[in-house]
Amino acid sequence: MRPVIDAIETDVLILGAGGAGLCAALHAADHSPNLSVTVVVKGLLGRAGCTRMVQGGYNAVLTAPDSLDAHFLDTLAGGGWINDQELVWTLVVEAPGRVLELESRYGCLFDRTEEGRIHQKPFAGQTHDRTIHKGDLTGIEIMNRLSEQVLRRENVQALEECRAVELLLDGAGRCAGALVLDVRTGRFVVVTARATLLAMGGGPTMYKVVACSADKAADGIALGYRAGLPLRDMEMIQFHPTGLVIPDSLMTGALLEEGLRGAGGHLRNGRGERYMERYDPARMERSTRDLVARASFLEVTEGRGTPNGGVWIDVSHLGAEVVERNWPVEVGPTTHFMMGGVVVDTACRTAIEGLFAAGEDTGGVHGANRLGGNGVAESTVFGGIAGDVMADFVAGRTAPHDGRGRVAEVVERLTAPLERRGGDLYGLQRELREAMWERAGLVRDGEGLRTAAATAERIGDELGRVGVRGGPAFNLAWQDWINLSNQSIVARLIATSALARAESRGAHYRNDHPAPSTAPLYTVRVQSRAGEAAVWTEPVALTRATPAGAGRVSSMVELGD
Ligand SMILES: Cc1cc2nc3c(=O)[nH]c(=O)nc-3n(C[C@H](O)[C@H](O)[C@H](O)COP(=O)(O)OP(=O)(O)OC[C@H]3O[C@@H](n4cnc5c(N)ncnc54)[C@H](O)[C@@H]3O)c2cc1C
Repeated sequence: MRPVIDAIETDVLILGAGGAGLCAALHAADHSPNLSVTVVVKGLLGRAGCTRMVQGGYNAVLTAPDSLDAHFLDTLAGGGWINDQELVWTLVVEAPGRVLELESRYGCLFDRTEEGRIHQKPFAGQTHDRTIHKGDLTGIEIMNRLSEQVLRRENVQALEECRAVELLLDGAGRCAGALVLDVRTGRFVVVTARATLLAMGGGPTMYKVVACSADKAADGIALGYRAGLPLRDMEMIQFHPTGLVIPDSLMTGALLEEGLRGAGGHLRNGRGERYMERYDPARMERSTRDLVARASFLEVTEGRGTPNGGVWIDVSHLGAEVVERNWPVEVGPTTHFMMGGVVVDTACRTAIEGLFAAGEDTGGVHGANRLGGNGVAESTVFGGIAGDVMADFVAGRTAPHDGRGRVAEVVERLTAPLERRGGDLYGLQRELREAMWERAGLVRDGEGLRTAAATAERIGDELGRVGVRGGPAFNLAWQDWINLSNQSIVARLIATSALARAESRGAHYRNDHPAPSTAPLYTVRVQSRAGEAAVWTEPVALTRATPAGAGRVSSMVELGD
């Protein structure tokens, strides 16, 4: 088979179309009608990714007594104080303006108080009522309005059901665009661009049970890593306590409304015991999200789960007025969000000239754990910043040199499985997911993490011998092969980074190091050097606040959606 390779040129290339990608596209396009903007999205525009799944809402400070300082300190306390404080400050300062822009410029309409002001609800881990929402369909409101706006811009083109498969660098090491695969036709497209944005939304889909959108495979992080970008805090994966358990269904892991727990639902193990009595008798089911998720995981792994490997959330005692259906629901912890990712500065610049990143592909904003409501704020705030910065960056800048040097080699590697037969792709996928869930999940230790890292590496190697049936057009097995090769890379980086953090902090819990370290705060960095993953730590720059000054303890912070 001879692969078809097309070519297009654009000024600004945006890889991914969640909150970050769409805000970036609008900001870049509105900067100047002369700029051409190309958005590449793995799914359908406005329908793919996690921003659409946002239920809880959007954090922004609108009125006193709330304050930017309070939002800033809440975010650092939630993040175990390893956040990049300059990124956090940018988030809290810019979020109010972005909310007003979403309403007045793009047409979103959030819920109102009786006086007509934007309604802000209390959300876990926050000292003030700060969370803006549209009922519990906040993400759908934001994504529908943003995608309508993108479709109206004549200088933006969207390449739907197309996926970025590699970043292209020119001879001087500058980003020159990306190699894209059109999933529908199987044709490759070399997209040459003067500025490129990674906004592919991370996505911890290398775990057995996940809440996030299935189109994500940590592609952006894998592409950035292969291009040589440093990553930070890859060990920080957020787990949510109440994902649905439905045997043999893709719905397993989907988030169950957390309000059931808040409203007084009881968590019971397979023996009917309210096991939270053993883990947090004072707060029981209303304990913090990381603690409840870990307790449920331990009940199952120690043999006290349901036959399907979950626990029960029992709401029968609350009565039909409180819950529509008064029978127990089977639930379990689910993998929700990646706090770690590409290292960026406050202008979304990466270490590679011409390459920018925003949203869940980046690390630093949330530190060791994300506050509910800060995810969609992060993606829309930094997406908008990236759009403005990229538009300025390309002005008067000559096109990068030809970045096609490695295209033939990459295309050959990616199309090789179409020429092979044999191997067990889905067996390897299952093995990776189980290894990550068991060894690099809610409860970790050194030996398990080493096993997870070795398993991920071996699976990456074995994929090189696995074939897939069929041709290149709309071949979902081939897409899964590409997904798994990226997931195995990122899985290894998660396990390797977790090994380097010999303490428990935020979402990262090691039972061989169950307490936070008393050493100075640090972040874990990882970068590809000569084909190997180099891992090191760097002290956290406490540029604006210190934990002692704030007097808060991160493990006491409850996190929302
Ligand atoms: C169930 C759920 C509920 C949540 N609720 C909340 C909440 O209430 N409040 C909150 O603040 N946060 C919430 N979050 C987190 C929030 O969704 C994320 O923080 C944020 O939306 C991520 O935005 P993003 O633009 O970075 O990525 P996404 O919105 O996930 O978008 C990623 C985009 O990249 C595309 N893509 C992926 N790979 C490729 C590729 N190779 N090439 C091209 N395109 C690609 C995808 O198709 C998608 O368009 C929730 C998350 C989940 C999973």
